[in-house]
Amino acid sequence: MNKFFNIINVDKTSRVAEIVINGIKIQTPCFMPVATQASVKSLDSFELNNIGYNLILSNIYHMAARPGITYLKDFGGIHKFMNWKGLILTDSGGFQGYSLSHRVKVKDDGIIFQSHLDGKEIYFKPKQVVRYQEDIGSNIMMPLDICLPKKASLNELKEAIETTYSWAKESITARTTIDSKLFGIVQGGTNLELREISAKKITSLDFDGFAYGGLGVGEDKELMMNALQSVNELLPENKPRYLMGIGSPDDLIKSIRNGFDMFDCVLPTRIARNGSLFTEKGRINIFNAKYKNIDKPIEEKCKCYSCENYSLAYIHHLFKSKELLGYRISSIHNLAFLYNLMSVTRKMIKNSDFSLFAIDFLKEYRSTDPQIQAEQKSKWIQSQGREN
Ligand SMILES: [Zn+2]
Repeated sequence: MNKFFNIINVDKTSRVAEIVINGIKIQTPCFMPVATQASVKSLDSFELNNIGYNLILSNIYHMAARPGITYLKDFGGIHKFMNWKGLILTDSGGFQGYSLSHRVKVKDDGIIFQSHLDGKEIYFKPKQVVRYQEDIGSNIMMPLDICLPKKASLNELKEAIETTYSWAKESITARTTIDSKLFGIVQGGTNLELREISAKKITSLDFDGFAYGGLGVGEDKELMMNALQSVNELLPENKPRYLMGIGSPDDLIKSIRNGFDMFDCVLPTRIARNGSLFTEKGRINIFNAKYKNIDKPIEEKCKCYSCENYSLAYIHHLFKSKELLGYRISSIHNLAFLYNLMSVTRKMIKNSDFSLFAIDFLKEYRSTDPQIQAEQKSKWIQSQGREN
């Protein structure tokens, strides 16, 4: 049991497993908070660790744009820079090729970004992107890929799959250490046939794990969920399966039911800063006047720092007064909510009770706040995904 990825229990298509890197153990299914710019917005490394997190996500395009790869390497790596003792997965910049597309030229051999900060050219090529991630000390690296918008044509999707495959092959040859793991990314939008083609190509390569990318980019939610159902057949059982950019509680439960192990999303911290808080019955909007006089925590049974110490009334006041503390207290709770949800999920899978748990959770979890319900219906996608 000294492998990088050990499966502990399988319950139908869901599994509990352990990832071990540099002696640090992470149990999956797990959610990874997003530190795009080497910071999970408004929380420091100790607060994240106190919630229980040991694996977070950062982004190599943003690190290249600021503070710079050489700067970080000379500093002693991203872990030292952030004072983060856990593991870090870095995304490759492929997503920014989509989200910053007005500043991007996609070439056969890479992506040319015009920095969103100072306009200087940042030329990302597959081999360099792996070296950059090694240079800053990433524990799990992602190869450069092509992520397309939902309106992409069939031909564009096919081309993107080919380029992603060719870059994946280059990325594998660029590795200089097995200490930093490297995952392959399967593309294909919501087209099931193309996703299968992409999966066959990418899983033929010797990656340490595999991801589904290119989802949560504005497509119909049902189509997205449909595309996830193939994961158990298309990705090998003995390696981690990572669903990129998805993180609402109900989507996590559904994706785990399909067989995914790892997730990241800006959703919990982004909506926290807008006053939207997770509860087992759905999201609540702390701005609502009904919370003004409620001297109770966000959730009675939540044991997070925020729920142990502060009332809905106080958090309501902080948001009305635009106090920064409100953003922090809310971000801690939302991240703790997902951390606890993943802990319970692992326990249920270990006991082979996950199917029933998932049905109960999904029945209970809905938006009770009409304002949020409307917002979720019309704009769910804006609150999904990753930062630009
Ligand atoms: Zn809480």
